[in-house]
Amino acid sequence: MIDSHCHLADKAFDADRDAVIARAHAAGVTTMICIADTLEEGKRCVEIAGQHEGVFATVGVHPHVSSQWTASSGQRLEELLRSSPKTVAVGEVGLDYHYMRSTIDEQQAAFREQLALAKSMELPVIVHCREAVEDVWRIVDDVRPDQLVLHCCTEAWADVARFVERGYLLSFTGIATYANAQTVRDTIAQCPLEHMMIETDAPYLTPEALRAEGGRSMRNEPAYVVEVARGIAAVTGKDIDDIAAITSRNAVEFFRLSP
Ligand SMILES: [Zn+2]
Ligand SMILES: [Zn+2]
Repeated sequence: MIDSHCHLADKAFDADRDAVIARAHAAGVTTMICIADTLEEGKRCVEIAGQHEGVFATVGVHPHVSSQWTASSGQRLEELLRSSPKTVAVGEVGLDYHYMRSTIDEQQAAFREQLALAKSMELPVIVHCREAVEDVWRIVDDVRPDQLVLHCCTEAWADVARFVERGYLLSFTGIATYANAQTVRDTIAQCPLEHMMIETDAPYLTPEALRAEGGRSMRNEPAYVVEVARGIAAVTGKDIDDIAAITSRNAVEFFRLSP
């Protein structure tokens, strides 16, 4: 099983990162993609990937901190992306109009430039989209990167079908297991399995079964991607082993991971 999106560089894992990664491997999670929100965090993701078998890194500037994107950021991003063979994608990048921690103009400029860099470097790109799907699509449709995943997809199928038709992927989190997330389950039911990945987005979005045990603020970790696969299996009527195999194959292909 592959956790296609987790924030292993987050300070929430500073005390026990090695144990968290070991627990994931023990749970059958062979591979984790360690996602960056800032260029500094990207450097740490590259280091963590270098220290652990089965961990790969991405580098990108999150829409929350798009105000940090400057004229020299593109060059720094490219350097980090070229700094290790285990750096496999640009991300996470995108638009977040819910929190609006950077202005719309700052978000759109940073998003567009990072999409263009991913395209020119022929790297896949991980996109974060919250309450911004029309603008995300408009910019994606303009730049047309070769490979893209909409991560933590919570959108209605009618809004994201065009991404799938373009050949892009959707990735789903533990939100699929939340009682109030019927829209997400409807989208999962519509999404062709060959366009699907699974992720924890740890330390956030702990699946419902584990939140029930550990409380709502319980930290998520890559081992729990098994619960996401279980949730997808329940929605699609497939066996959990089939969901694990298909989403792993998709991730290997998307991130061009060597076996
Ligand atoms: Zn995100
Ligand atoms: Zn994330």
